[in-house]
Amino acid sequence: MTTYFIIVFFIFGTVFGSFFNVVGLRVPKGILFRSDRSYCPTCNEQLRAFELIPIVSYIFQKGKCRHCKSHISFIYPFIELSTGLLFAYAFIHFGFTLELITAILFISMLMILFVTDISYMLIPNKILLFFSPFLLVMRIISPLEPWYDMLIGASVGFVVLSAIILVSKGGMGGGDMKLFVVLGIVLGWKATLFTLFLAALLGTVIGGVIMLIQKADRKQPIPFGPYIITAALLSYFYGEQIISMYLSLF
Ligand SMILES: [Zn+2]
Repeated sequence: MTTYFIIVFFIFGTVFGSFFNVVGLRVPKGILFRSDRSYCPTCNEQLRAFELIPIVSYIFQKGKCRHCKSHISFIYPFIELSTGLLFAYAFIHFGFTLELITAILFISMLMILFVTDISYMLIPNKILLFFSPFLLVMRIISPLEPWYDMLIGASVGFVVLSAIILVSKGGMGGGDMKLFVVLGIVLGWKATLFTLFLAALLGTVIGGVIMLIQKADRKQPIPFGPYIITAALLSYFYGEQIISMYLSLF
C-alpha cells in the first residue's frame, strides 16, 4: 500500500512539475491566464495532448519540438522529475501527517522559483505572496519546536539578508531577502542560517566549476536562486540532523 502511494505522489509530482514550468515561465511576463494551452516557445505551435505527458514526451521527442525541431530546454523534464521525486520523498519522510501538506506547499513554491530564477533571474513577489499565507497557516497548525521559532526564523532571514545586501551591493537582491523571510517561517532560525551557509558553499563549488567550463562568459551573472533552493530543501529534510552532527564535533 505504501509503495502504491509513493508512486501516486511521484506521478502527481511530475504533473504538478509540468504545471510549475508553465507558471514559472508565464508569471514574470504577466501572461499566466492568456492561453490555457501550452505552446512551443520557438514556433508558437500549440502542443498536442500527448506532448504534455511529463518526462515521457521529452524522451520520445528526443528533447526537440515535433513541429520546428528546435531544442526543448532541459529545465522542463528536470523540474518534472525533481517535483515527482520530491513529492514522493516528502510522503516517504512524513507519511500522512499535517507536515506533508507543508512539505508539498514548500516544494511547489521552490520549484516555481527555480524556474523563474533560472529563466529570468527573478524571484517574483507574486509567487512568494501566493504561498506565504498558506505556509504561515501550516506553521501555526503544524508548528516548529518551539512554536515561535518561525518568528525568530523570519526575523533572522530578514536581518541577515538585509545586512548581506547592504555589504555586497548587488550580490543579492530584495527577492532573495523576501524569500529568506519565508524560508525562516518554514525552517526556523537555525536551518535558515544553515541554508544560507550551504547555498554559499554550493554556489562557490558548483559556480566555480561552471566558471571553469565556460571561461569566456566569466562576466555573465549566474543565478544564485537554484543554490538557495537546493540548500533550503536539504535543510528542510536534513537540517536538524546535519546541525546536531556538526555541533557534536565540538
Ligand atoms: Zn516548435
